[in-house]
Amino acid sequence: MIDFNDLLNELKAESSKCISCGFCDSVCPTYKNSGYDMARTARGRAQSGLVMFNGIISNDFNLNFSDTFYSCLDCHVCLQVCPTGVDAGRISDISRMILNKMNLTKRDEVKLIVKNIKMYKSPIPLNIKSYRWFSDIEFDDSDTLLYTGLMYQLMPYTEVIEKLKRRFGNDLFKRLINIASRHNYLSRLVIPEDRKIDYYSNKLRLIVRALKNSGVRFDFLGYNEPYPGTLLYDYGFIDDFIEYIKNVYNLIKDYKKIITVDPHTYNILKYEYKKYIKDFNPEIVYYLDLLKTDKMKRTDLKIAFHDPCNFNGDRRYKGARDIAESLAMVIYPDRSGDKTFCCGGPDELLFPEISKNVSEDRYNQLIKLSKNIVTSCPICLYSISRNGNVMDIIDIISF
Ligand code: SF4
Ligand code: SF4
Repeated sequence: MIDFNDLLNELKAESSKCISCGFCDSVCPTYKNSGYDMARTARGRAQSGLVMFNGIISNDFNLNFSDTFYSCLDCHVCLQVCPTGVDAGRISDISRMILNKMNLTKRDEVKLIVKNIKMYKSPIPLNIKSYRWFSDIEFDDSDTLLYTGLMYQLMPYTEVIEKLKRRFGNDLFKRLINIASRHNYLSRLVIPEDRKIDYYSNKLRLIVRALKNSGVRFDFLGYNEPYPGTLLYDYGFIDDFIEYIKNVYNLIKDYKKIITVDPHTYNILKYEYKKYIKDFNPEIVYYLDLLKTDKMKRTDLKIAFHDPCNFNGDRRYKGARDIAESLAMVIYPDRSGDKTFCCGGPDELLFPEISKNVSEDRYNQLIKLSKNIVTSCPICLYSISRNGNVMDIIDIISF
């Protein structure tokens, strides 16, 4: 269990560093794309953190900070420009944990996601069709495990939720979701089209094929594969996260190496699991690092490459860029690397308008450079492709 006072102390230490210079306003994607709402910029989050801390300490806490911190995309780009080293992404993380411990997480959608993860081992119960992709694949008896984290599989469901929200409006959508979840009808309400399930399933099949072509042998948990719990962490349910990952650990603890296929699962296993489970010590690898590039064909494509936020900052991972550069002529937008511009995906459920605006903004930055936009994260793929065609890195590997 994470100590409440430790969270408060960290919140104070991080928020107090802000000198209100406003440098972060120019890079924070949610500021511009919320119509310049001061509560949606890194500066606003740092200052709200301090106000919240003081309010809790003096027992005078009646402001609603939930939207300020839940709308943060956790891209941590603000940290790159801040002269005093404020990490407003971390402030948002801690604040969500605090709000949650104080029972002030007001969002029904968040509560539903948390309930589903605990009950179904997935934020949204998956249809049986989402498990078809591996039905004819033979896996190996190996101490290496392919762990998809269900991220590609979940993207078509995200799209259905987005459409339901647009069709019914926020309030009706919430009521609908509440009723459906109370009666366990959610899996009948959120049903993606087959072609959407097939689209994301095909990415996983291509990944498996590329690994096998590179001579990698690996096992797979099949229907038993659980979601890694990332949203429990992201939404601030830290104690639930710690409890939940013990179950995941029990399923994967006998493997020496775990192959991940998306940045979110890679990071949560590589950095967070190790903090909370002392015996968790498998090698966490990203599938791209296991591919033999000499077996791939260089294309004559000119591509605009979108760096996922999760591959930047102190958790920098360059494998996706390296492969892209070995296969195509890569152009990077001004906002790249540590200063990348989020795809907007993390705001999709709670702040669809901000999410839509951020993804459109990012798409426009990329499409100016090339009509071939490529990324290496299923969330970025889903989010940016709401505006036009986007490829996954596995698509150009598989040409
Ligand atoms: S750049 Fe840093 S110090 Fe300046 S306003 Fe933003 S968070 Fe505060
Ligand atoms: S982490 Fe990203 S979205 Fe959050 S405050 Fe910093 S720049 Fe803005």
